[in-house]
Amino acid sequence: MADTIIDLYWSEAYGASGIELETTRKSSFVAASLAADPVPGVRLVAPSPATPDEFGAVHDGAYVDAVRHGTPAWLARSNGIGWTDELFSAVAASTGGVRDAALTAMRTGIAGSLSSGLHHARAGEGNGFCTFNGLVVAARAALRAGAGRVLVVDLDAHCGGGTASMLDRVPGMEQVDVSLSSFDEYASRPGARLWLPTRDSYLETVTEALDSVEDPTGVGLVLYNAGMDVHWSAGTPGGLDDDQVRRREELLFDWARSHGIAVAFVLAGGYLSPCTWDELVSLHRITIEVATCSR
Ligand SMILES: [Zn+2]
Repeated sequence: MADTIIDLYWSEAYGASGIELETTRKSSFVAASLAADPVPGVRLVAPSPATPDEFGAVHDGAYVDAVRHGTPAWLARSNGIGWTDELFSAVAASTGGVRDAALTAMRTGIAGSLSSGLHHARAGEGNGFCTFNGLVVAARAALRAGAGRVLVVDLDAHCGGGTASMLDRVPGMEQVDVSLSSFDEYASRPGARLWLPTRDSYLETVTEALDSVEDPTGVGLVLYNAGMDVHWSAGTPGGLDDDQVRRREELLFDWARSHGIAVAFVLAGGYLSPCTWDELVSLHRITIEVATCSR
């Protein structure tokens, strides 16, 4: 509907960790693109930062303290991208955006956050460029707000092994995961189902994964980890092209709409070389554009 407003959470703090990587920097490029060339019906909104208590409810206290204060250094740096004085506040902002997108989507049907670096983080440590698992933090908030069940749909190129390892921290959270890389692979099981298709079977596998969800009308919220590293230029040589990426987004949003399920989406993976910043931003804009067409 033309008058639908989609709240897309972001603040400068997302990228203010002082760590210069695509994961930490890309939200600023996407936000700048949206300011210069808006997607109709989308507005950027600053979130409330996640609190230490929110992190501590799903992560180990010792790990939360390590990221806040930098010691022990090995634990504070377990995300694989390093630690700075500003890391905690940056990740708190970015995680707060996922939580606010989840709660907003439960009211409006759809929302997003320009957050990345979530799904590899474990309860007790970071992993694979991910510091805290904002998907799990947001799932807990949504369940406390009455979502009933929260389904993480992880279509990043890499497996969401961190999220899968934290299911027991948040009863009511489940995951379906279609990945092109076996990085962070885990044993597929009820509640956390993983597929590893080829490029040619990718889209039909996404459909199969969504169709495998039991009683989808009982799902109160989808948290969509919309990684663009499935694209041939943004992380997966030989991976999907632009049309296939757009089709993937249509499959996800159409499936959620057909079952009346709210969706909160995040950016997740997507990397430079060979693609440029402009090309990477264009890929992430596909998710936002398709989201606006889905309501
Ligand atoms: Zn990835």
